[in-house]
Amino acid sequence: MPEAPAGGVVVKVEATGMCRSDWHAWAGHDDIAFPHVPGHELAGVIAAVGEGVQRWKTGDRVTVPFVCGCGKCEWCLAGEAQVCPDQQQPGFTHWGSFAEFVALHAADSNLVAIPEGVDFATAASLGCRFATAYRALAARAKVKAGEWVTVVGAGGVGLSAVMIARAMGARVIAVDRNPAALAVASRLGAEHTLLADGSDIPAAISGITDGGSHVAVDAVGSEQTCADAILSLRRRGRHVQIGLLPAINGNPQVPMARVIGWELDLLGSHGMAAVDYPGMMALIEQGLLQPQLLIERTIGLEEAVLLLPGFDKAAPAGMTMIDPNR
Ligand SMILES: [Zn+2]
Ligand SMILES: [Zn+2]
Repeated sequence: MPEAPAGGVVVKVEATGMCRSDWHAWAGHDDIAFPHVPGHELAGVIAAVGEGVQRWKTGDRVTVPFVCGCGKCEWCLAGEAQVCPDQQQPGFTHWGSFAEFVALHAADSNLVAIPEGVDFATAASLGCRFATAYRALAARAKVKAGEWVTVVGAGGVGLSAVMIARAMGARVIAVDRNPAALAVASRLGAEHTLLADGSDIPAAISGITDGGSHVAVDAVGSEQTCADAILSLRRRGRHVQIGLLPAINGNPQVPMARVIGWELDLLGSHGMAAVDYPGMMALIEQGLLQPQLLIERTIGLEEAVLLLPGFDKAAPAGMTMIDPNR
């Protein structure tokens, strides 16, 4: 049973998502002290409040971005807590939410109230993948209506990107090696889907879009998917890297000659700060974004233990949500 740190809270977990980042941690790609509890996409009810917390009380329904900023540094004060140098991440820097209870730091800066009409699973689905996809397209790539957006990888974050790009009025192409994932992408509004079966993906996209897409997202994180996304861009296109490319796998080769010659923008995206949630939450309340449609299954903690080790290869289509009460 965690204790509420000064300035923090303990949340009783009602829903927590399983993400490829949890697999990265499990595989040893993060610096983690054992024993450890993963889990970083969560929603629940405040069970205990630490010293000095002003804005929250027990019983409040809350969620939190996976990056919890310190609330004090120049980046946090500028509303950019997603790059805070003193950030905490549940499930990485301390025990996470694959549990009945989780401690969260700097509650006044990081917690987000869940509106009445939004359920716990929907709120938990925002914490990492959906919010990251939203920020990648809205704040980083600044997608405009009518633009072509290529999303490489139709897992949780990729499908989120498909839904959000569509809601922004973009025309979406989804790429994945799994036909079932592409079927979901079509349902969520992808106009074209391409099976990554070793064929020339950038050439196919150039044909569909008459010269390449305006925006590309690598939602997987591999040398191949990163290069495919960049090479599928038209001149002066914008690439957003969301999929993790951990240094432990070697730094990937990126086609920089194309980046220079065609003046492409390469953008990173790392979650979204709590201060940016209200705009996204309003679209969800209005039904314009429906992250709950991405949730394909809900499992208990014991099933999660069996599923996580194979998550890089056998990850099922859509999002997997854990209900610790099951
Ligand atoms: Zn900070
Ligand atoms: Zn995640």
